Amino acid sequence: MRAATAARTREPIVRDGEHHGPLLDEVKGYKIIDCEPCGFRHVLPLPKPDALKAAYSQAYYRDEKPNYLARARDDADWSKLAWNDRLTLFEELLAGERKPLHVLDIGCGPGWFLSAAVARGWQARGIEPSEQAAAHAQSLGLNVANVMFDETTAACVQPAHVVHLNNMLEHVADPIALLQLAIGATRPGGIVCVGVPNDYNGFQQAVRRNGEEPWWLVPPHHLNYLNFTSLEDLLGRLDLEIVDTMTSFPMELFLLMGENYVGNDTVGKDCHARRKRFDLSLEKAGMGDTRRKFYRALANAGLGREAIVIARKPKFAR
Ligand SMILES: [Zn+2]
Repeated sequence: MRAATAARTREPIVRDGEHHGPLLDEVKGYKIIDCEPCGFRHVLPLPKPDALKAAYSQAYYRDEKPNYLARARDDADWSKLAWNDRLTLFEELLAGERKPLHVLDIGCGPGWFLSAAVARGWQARGIEPSEQAAAHAQSLGLNVANVMFDETTAACVQPAHVVHLNNMLEHVADPIALLQLAIGATRPGGIVCVGVPNDYNGFQQAVRRNGEEPWWLVPPHHLNYLNFTSLEDLLGRLDLEIVDTMTSFPMELFLLMGENYVGNDTVGKDCHARRKRFDLSLEKAGMGDTRRKFYRALANAGLGREAIVIARKPKFAR
């Protein structure tokens, strides 16, 4: 069992409709609560789904991530390590299934994960609301639909062996409903892989106690603040069996070592280059397995920049 990261004494309880829980923080007019019915931390008030649809179909990659594609191209060799780690694990977990394996990537962005899957012989499909990101994925020859993943589109997708949701849950107003649709798009006995920022983690809390503001709170882009515990609980409540956890380099180590990249793009780029070098150096030495063991141990301690949880849908699911 992981220890709870936040002491829960004397915080005022905030209520809004069905949501209620202790107030943790207030940022840009949003309250962040540890919501008891939802079982994870999220902002209040929650935006309306229509507002989010407009934000993610047009503005997100244009306004919030203008350099995203260029940076992602620079990171291509490095980010393939993480995608291949996941795909290797999925292939092991689905060893008895007839090939080719099918993956559905919900919120596939510019298509980097899907490209890695296709290179390994997977049948890959993606759903992506951003026009710019979907167009990029399609230019790579990928089967990507430029739509929101909602009840209407979910009804049209063929269930896949693996449904992948990376950096999706933190953006949506109702992550439980999204997961229910995603589970519906997963074959019985198949895998649901969810990756989110690992927020309010122990290293972040340490930096905060030493005087830094909670930089990881970025409403309205991030509405939900999950970690390993809340994500595993949530997937368990949706009748999935947790089979593994993974993470990526704990970027807060740089802050704890005195290199403050918060709001400083130059330092941030340097720290990012160094974490890439760390991963690639192990790979170059033929010690990718050591890298994977290191990150799995961090994940078990509730640490690492991302909380990635791999769960299985029961074989005889409804
Ligand atoms: Zn809630």
